Amino acid sequence: MAGRPLSYLATIPTDQVKGIGPRSTKKLADAGIHSVADLLLHPPRRYLDRSQIFDLADVPLGEEVTVGGTVTSVDKRRLKGNRTMIDAVITDGTNFLRARWFNPYTKVAQGWDVVLSGKVERYQGSLQMKSPDMERMGSESLLIGRVVPFHPSAGGLGPAAMRRAIWNALPRSRPIHEVLPEEMLDRLDLVDRDYAIANIHFPETAAEAQPARRRLVFDELFRLELALALRKQKLIDETTGVVHDTSGELVKRFLAALPYELTGAQLKAIAEIEADLEADHAMHRLLQGEVGSGKTVVAAAALLTGVQSGFQAAVMAPTEVLAEQHYLGFRDLFESGGLAPPIEDAGALDGQANLFADPSADRGPSVRMALLTANSVEVNFLPPGSAKRPDVVQWIGDGTVELVVGTHSLIQESLRFERLGIAVVDEQHRFGVYQRVTLRDKADEYDPDLLIMTATPIPRTYAMTLYGDLEVSTLDEMPPGRIPVTTRHLALADLGAAFSLVREEVAAGRQAFVVAPLVDESDKIEVTSATEEYERFSSELVGLRVGLMHGQLRPAEKDAVMHRFRDGDLDVLVATTVIEVGIDIPNATVMVILDADRFGLSQLHQLRGRVGRGSDPATCLLMADPTTDEGSARLGAMVATTDGFRLAEEDLRIRGQGTVFGTRQAGIKDLKMADILRDAPLLIEARREAFALVAGDPGLESHSELAAEVRALLGADVDWLFRS
Ligand code: ADP
Ligand code: MG
Repeated sequence: MAGRPLSYLATIPTDQVKGIGPRSTKKLADAGIHSVADLLLHPPRRYLDRSQIFDLADVPLGEEVTVGGTVTSVDKRRLKGNRTMIDAVITDGTNFLRARWFNPYTKVAQGWDVVLSGKVERYQGSLQMKSPDMERMGSESLLIGRVVPFHPSAGGLGPAAMRRAIWNALPRSRPIHEVLPEEMLDRLDLVDRDYAIANIHFPETAAEAQPARRRLVFDELFRLELALALRKQKLIDETTGVVHDTSGELVKRFLAALPYELTGAQLKAIAEIEADLEADHAMHRLLQGEVGSGKTVVAAAALLTGVQSGFQAAVMAPTEVLAEQHYLGFRDLFESGGLAPPIEDAGALDGQANLFADPSADRGPSVRMALLTANSVEVNFLPPGSAKRPDVVQWIGDGTVELVVGTHSLIQESLRFERLGIAVVDEQHRFGVYQRVTLRDKADEYDPDLLIMTATPIPRTYAMTLYGDLEVSTLDEMPPGRIPVTTRHLALADLGAAFSLVREEVAAGRQAFVVAPLVDESDKIEVTSATEEYERFSSELVGLRVGLMHGQLRPAEKDAVMHRFRDGDLDVLVATTVIEVGIDIPNATVMVILDADRFGLSQLHQLRGRVGRGSDPATCLLMADPTTDEGSARLGAMVATTDGFRLAEEDLRIRGQGTVFGTRQAGIKDLKMADILRDAPLLIEARREAFALVAGDPGLESHSELAAEVRALLGADVDWLFRS
């Protein structure tokens, strides 16, 4: 093999690099840099062109330049407001210049030889630089006469140390083996890997770093997509699916009883899901769609297909409140579809497991359903509040309960299903990839079908990385008759306008939501804040019926409040974000969000999605005096569009992908080179290439070096892909 493969460099610890001692090794490890490969794939954040060092005598003013010299004096002063000012005078023999910093940690001392980069200006007749980049020159300086890379600090090692480490690591690593065929490089217009790794760090000119970066971005995305393609392949090859019965009574009855026609998108999604369900491999599908696009009905059809085939179905939600809401939502949906089971007598069943001697006995088409979370249990075949946890657990274990709605309590070791055949995982991005798989492990001899449902629209490129191993059904069509919600941003002082609007709409027979300010500290404080707003709105809106809803109410209390609001016995509901998802009140036409700048974009979008669900025009008032640029940007985006996909992209742009990946992509390391918005075209190419490659070589047997690289660089998280 010509050159050293990256997978080999990934086995060489950083302490093998000249100049990296035990302390630096530890610091690097803290930053996730363990091997020489990690080090070489730590790209500079920017470059400074120091190929030209100006004499102070004829340095141009007002441009980015680099100058060098010796420090002749340093003056450190305390300013008002606890600020520090550091002045250093340097000379290169042709003139003097004063450098000034306000960063108290700036290190500089008389006698040092330094290079400074920044803009030179003339101040009171003398040359001055404000807050220049400064580095002390060593004997063999990497700082002058060249384009200097600035690497992000890692574990406390600054740009200078990182630059030196990479400089020392490079010659012992090169030439680096090319892993991609020449044909592919030509076709995709990519430079070779050895050139790319050398030139991303130490390019001759700043322009030469560009093709180098493009190649390494491609490599990173290609590895990720290869892992996803392999996972998908493995799921197809190695799962034993359940063959469901898609012609049964339950689903037919349910769909026939719906008070509306399904949209084309819903019909298409249901057809796609049914095709998966009747196939003999396990389904692995994402159902995505805008708030209000009607995912619940589609999920219900999938769950009922499982039940009518003689299997159990499960719904896993990320929070208790969501699980409760799903439970109530499905319960009502089944009731109106005539699928509610008869209510049994709780007293007679006390402590008695398996109340149905023969679970498959014909009792007419109906669904026995349970809610199981850490704090609550309910079943739809006993009077509300009378089910006991041990019984419910038992009934799930013996198949008495056919549909279970819960939180991650469902994947606890101790919970057994009798014959789980299909699972719907809601808002999957809040779970790790591995929890999906764990839920699947709940069945022994076969693999339950899996439908992942997300109400958060995901930009296409983001979905390609996050859900890249799934089939996707998209509800891209809203139920008819929806009028887009009008969104306005008002100052907090204009609350009077909100009161007026609420009064007007209530006078016209409509209802309003008020969302209390988001409080980070704790649920308790959030409840206090909601309670205060409740009192304020009650006393302001005399004569209106105002209700209060928050997360600390017991499920039965929440249920009662929601029912009163739904039945029109309340005009205004003051709430915390517990109403974010799943609440469906078509008569509500006003959403007032207090301190709206504190909420995230997707949360604002979800909240807004609670109104405009009927045929009347609705308004969302964002009450806020934003104090940050980000806050203002979010409000601006909300006013500008109701398109969830555009908002999701905007969110990514405002927050950056780091935050998004960091919390969600449990299992696959953060992208270091690629920016999935900016690099979207490359991502699409990398995906196409990766999936084509795996299709032709499912085990990567004739691409062993690529396989080794994916494994070495994506770490233990992908090991299972390579187990047979
Ligand atoms: P999502 O979960 O995608 O946000 P829901 O499933 O909660 O949306 O549906 C939103 C609202 O639209 C509900 O009131 C639901 O009853 C209604 N709905 C769903 N599908 C249709 C349809 N095809 N026609 C009319 N209304 C629909
Ligand atoms: Mg919903």
